[in-house]
Amino acid sequence: MTGPAALLADHPPYRVDQVWSGLYEHLATPKELTNLPKSLRAELDAVLPPALTPVTESTSDAGDTLKWLWSLDDGALIETVLMHYDERSTACISTQAGCAMGCTFCATGQAGFERQLRVGEIVEQVVRAARRARDDGRRLSHVVFMGMGEPLANYDPTWQAVERLHGHLGLSARHLTVSTVGIVPGIRRLATEALPVNLAVSLHAADDELRDELVPINRRYPLSTLMDACAGYLQAKGRRLSFEWALIDGVNDRDRDADQLVARARSLPLAAHVNLIPLNPTPGYAVVGTPMRRVRAFRDRLRAGGVNATVRRTRGTEIDAACGQLRASHEVSEPVAIRPRHG
Ligand code: SAH
Ligand code: SF4
Repeated sequence: MTGPAALLADHPPYRVDQVWSGLYEHLATPKELTNLPKSLRAELDAVLPPALTPVTESTSDAGDTLKWLWSLDDGALIETVLMHYDERSTACISTQAGCAMGCTFCATGQAGFERQLRVGEIVEQVVRAARRARDDGRRLSHVVFMGMGEPLANYDPTWQAVERLHGHLGLSARHLTVSTVGIVPGIRRLATEALPVNLAVSLHAADDELRDELVPINRRYPLSTLMDACAGYLQAKGRRLSFEWALIDGVNDRDRDADQLVARARSLPLAAHVNLIPLNPTPGYAVVGTPMRRVRAFRDRLRAGGVNATVRRTRGTEIDAACGQLRASHEVSEPVAIRPRHG
């Protein structure tokens, strides 16, 4: 056993409580835990090096959206986004470096998979965002697992992170949202967990032919199986789930797409809520997002069909921090051409 648990094994329980409450509730670094003996502080600092080293930090929307690019201990890069809204502050966190799911329209998918994140790497993103929120005079209250990677393809660390965010950071399970591309075994497992987190399913297409193309994992878990798992989740939790739908111009924004989506959403025991996101631009996908007028018409058609639908406000597009734009690259400027000198 190494790490803080080994270090604290011989200390009385109140010390252990002081450490956890300092690190998580008060968002302190080991060095800031001034209620501990100095030697213990130094030892903790040695066994708890930060998992995330900031590489860049960008802000947009007049400072209301922040994006960090972090480097991990092996040099892998991930991103975290913090969004301040009028009524809440939300962190959007990564669960993998890259993603293996290959969704065509997503920058993370275009870049491929690097590795799974460990639980500490997931939780620390929230701790860092919560510290920043506090410094901005805000309180981080919501976390969405919608950054880089597919949470249910890294199930155990993701779930342990959920438990720590709830247990140590005191975040309400109802303020935590796990987003999945539709990993059916993961959804079934999630249905057996005690904490009632929100589930968002990235649907994007309501017929198999189109979904196979946009979201390749659909070939493994087609819509009938996915809907069955969603219904099972609802029955187990009694809570409505939501479908994410990135609107792509001329691809999945037609009337018939809306009608198929209505049928899918209403096929569940409790109709799903639909979150519409106009597609954000990514380097590897040429098709553009649906224009706003059409987005509203699509939303209205869903509503007329009896489905609750909202349009998600796009945040952080200028800093590539919006949905689907995270790809964890250093911005490398074009090398300056050096002309050979003759003579
Ligand atoms: N892998 C998980 C969570 C991360 S993706 C998932 O796919 O659900 C977070 C959300 O951003 C998903 O709903 C995803 O479909 C959406 N997304 C991906 N690329 C996008 C893009 N270019 N524009 C808008 N949304 C996008
Ligand atoms: Fe992975 Fe989600 Fe992007 Fe698909 S949309 S490639 S599952 S991060």
